[in-house]
Amino acid sequence: MTTAKSYAAPAKSAPLEPWSFERREPGPHDVAFDIQYCGVCHSDLHQVRDEWGRSKYPMVPGHEIVGRVTKVGSDVKKFKVGDLAGVGCLVNSCRECNNCEQGLEQYCTNGSVGTYNSFERDGVTQTYGGYSNHIVVNEDFVLHISDKLPLAAVAPLLCAGITTYSPLRYWKVGKGHKIGVLGLGGLGHMAVKFAVAFGAEVTMLSHTAAKEADAKKLGAHKFVLTSNTQNLDAVKGYFDFIIDTVSAPHDYNLYLSLLKTNGVHICVGAPPTPTEIIGFNLIGGRKSLAGSMIGGIPETQEMLDFCAEHHIVSEIEVIAMKDINEAYERMLNGDVRYRFVIDLATL
Ligand code: NAP
Ligand code: ZN
Ligand code: ZN
Repeated sequence: MTTAKSYAAPAKSAPLEPWSFERREPGPHDVAFDIQYCGVCHSDLHQVRDEWGRSKYPMVPGHEIVGRVTKVGSDVKKFKVGDLAGVGCLVNSCRECNNCEQGLEQYCTNGSVGTYNSFERDGVTQTYGGYSNHIVVNEDFVLHISDKLPLAAVAPLLCAGITTYSPLRYWKVGKGHKIGVLGLGGLGHMAVKFAVAFGAEVTMLSHTAAKEADAKKLGAHKFVLTSNTQNLDAVKGYFDFIIDTVSAPHDYNLYLSLLKTNGVHICVGAPPTPTEIIGFNLIGGRKSLAGSMIGGIPETQEMLDFCAEHHIVSEIEVIAMKDINEAYERMLNGDVRYRFVIDLATL
């Protein structure tokens, strides 16, 4: 066992505070690495505050993890000491169900193992995430990271990146498509970058007027301010797709009216409370309301390689570990441009 330093939430709604715990020694198939940077996802905040109702404490959040390998198990083939390494939202899965066989470990029918707030395959060992100084993970769930990109800005690709890349690839969004990106935060800004890279016409749908210039800088072709719903009239029946990254409850019905016939509203944002959907809004125009969760390991590596080739990274603000509680408040207030990343050297 090796003692890890971390920041943990001791209980629901309590602020995060310094905490130490034990990580296992790397087994034959494990990779151990020192964490250099970890992104701050809105899912961390939802879970720290038990908004999804399944939180385990103490909780060490963090699933946008990058660092450098310090030890490898005797049978590890993919990594050697000194390599850059990344871990996203998953650290294991059953590896034998239909979904795992297709590289869709995020949909493992026997339950994938989350990087934190989850249990290892033994069903009893709690997992702890990346707000810590080192981690030990089975090599099959460790990603290769290019040394061509700034490491801190790569970290958010491990969740915000793959969560937006995966549905855009699944629905083959590209040239000739009009897509609306709803919500310009961590996920939203990556959705804009990928949709632009894939050749789609991108409209930013944001409730924050001050983000218009940034949306254009990120590559969005149009900007619609959603806080005044009259503005939506200009884009009624306009989009082939909407990718919805909003973290707070909102009215999906409003946005279904912006889709063309056969249009798809893809939910990736995970608000904690239900919203009523009126069936007529789907029936008229054969519309789909769909969802997508992160991405499997092969596709996450594909996304990282795509980003290295096309120089795509996240727009970040690096913070010290002690500032995490303030960062959560700022994220809730929409005051993040566009992802906080913790520098673990400050731990
Ligand atoms: P974030 O950085 O906080 O961005 C959320 C954005 O939603 C905000 O920037 C804001 O954009 C918009 N928004 C927030 N409150 C709003 C409100 N009251 N009304 C309308 N719009 C509002 O969060 P994130 O890290 O991108 O995560 C977004 C959501 O995705 C979270 O629910 C998270 O849990 C979920 N998530 C899902 C997956 C998955 O696998 N599906 C993976 C990661 C995260 P504007 O100011 O532009 O309106
Ligand atoms: Zn996340
Ligand atoms: Zn499985």
